[in-house]
Amino acid sequence: MDLFDKAYAFTEAKEAIAAGFYPYFIPLTENEGSEALYKGHRLIMCGSNNYLGLTTDPRVREAAIAAIHRYGTSCTGSRFLNGTLEMHEQLEHELAEFVGKEAALVFSTGMQVNLGAISALVGRGDYVILDKEDHASIVDAAKLSYGETKRFGHQDMEELERVLSRLPEDRGKLVVVDGLYSMEGDIAPLPVMAPLCKKYGARLMVDDAHAIGVLGGGRGTAAYYDMTDQVDLIMSTFSKSFASLGGFIAGDEPVIHYIKHHARSMIFSASIPPSNAAAALASLKIMRDEPERVEHLCKIADHMRKGYRELGFNIGNSTTPIIPVIIGEKMLTIYVWKRLFDEGVFVNPVLSPGVQPGRELLRTSYMATHTFEQMDRVLSVFEKVGKETGLI
Ligand code: PMP
Repeated sequence: MDLFDKAYAFTEAKEAIAAGFYPYFIPLTENEGSEALYKGHRLIMCGSNNYLGLTTDPRVREAAIAAIHRYGTSCTGSRFLNGTLEMHEQLEHELAEFVGKEAALVFSTGMQVNLGAISALVGRGDYVILDKEDHASIVDAAKLSYGETKRFGHQDMEELERVLSRLPEDRGKLVVVDGLYSMEGDIAPLPVMAPLCKKYGARLMVDDAHAIGVLGGGRGTAAYYDMTDQVDLIMSTFSKSFASLGGFIAGDEPVIHYIKHHARSMIFSASIPPSNAAAALASLKIMRDEPERVEHLCKIADHMRKGYRELGFNIGNSTTPIIPVIIGEKMLTIYVWKRLFDEGVFVNPVLSPGVQPGRELLRTSYMATHTFEQMDRVLSVFEKVGKETGLI
């Protein structure tokens, strides 16, 4: 048996490419934020995580360029050894303050935050308890830890209580949820979850990858509910609202200090380059100084939710700038994606296992730099394609 047999036998993606219906790894020629170019074809971007539209903001660009001039292009090493700049520490101080925690720690990606922090904290004999729709990085982190994983149905607080009530009192427990779910745009019910965690002696960690810059005036899910002191750990990424690459986790100083000395994904990986740290710092300053960006983003999202509902699309329970258009069937989802693309609208098709079978959807997401004119154009394309395909 040859290990590579599975690779040679894997033809599904090549068949989709040959048929012109392959929706992944699309090489854009240009990406100006709210619009992008693919082989000369202009697209309104409704599929990015650039929620505040800061990737092309002149102040963010200039900060990244200035950091390259001052420090060069790479730190060539781990935070642990030669890869820490004063700028990384400044970023940590400002992030901790922004989300309302004592301390923060910067990692090289959000994925690495989850892998490193969760596996460092959840040891042999401990439990990690996940929502079934948690992001893949949390699921992988649980696998990497030496603890035991338990899962509860998506947003099902009764099941969470059942799971917690059956765990031994004398074992460490960490509940990890997404604050804002990336596929369907729904928000974790922290006001129910946090008291349950307290009742059963579990710590609560919230993945705010999609919530920072979006909820709670940009400060995330705990701030949105005004319960920052009841969430033990808040993590997020720089690859979305921060217009950069990297991630961080924030919490009580001793816990962050512990993670800093035990998270292998940070210790054994190079730190984010100066340009990425500077871009994240500049974005953070804009988030603090310009709350009107988040307000405009919310208005754009309200406009789109109303528009989709009026047209008759099924958009689930989203109340945020992530709006799923639920199609419920794989081939139709890909077909509708392709028609939208041809008509100049970029969205992301999400198929099983990204979502439950039967819940296949087009993930649409919005930006503070979108205009209402662009949005009305998107709605008219959706109307045309929706009617053409019998969706509405
Ligand atoms: N958590 C969630 C909920 C995410 O959506 C993502 C990225 N898609 C990550 C973590 C990982 O972040 P990064 O892209 O920085 O690795």
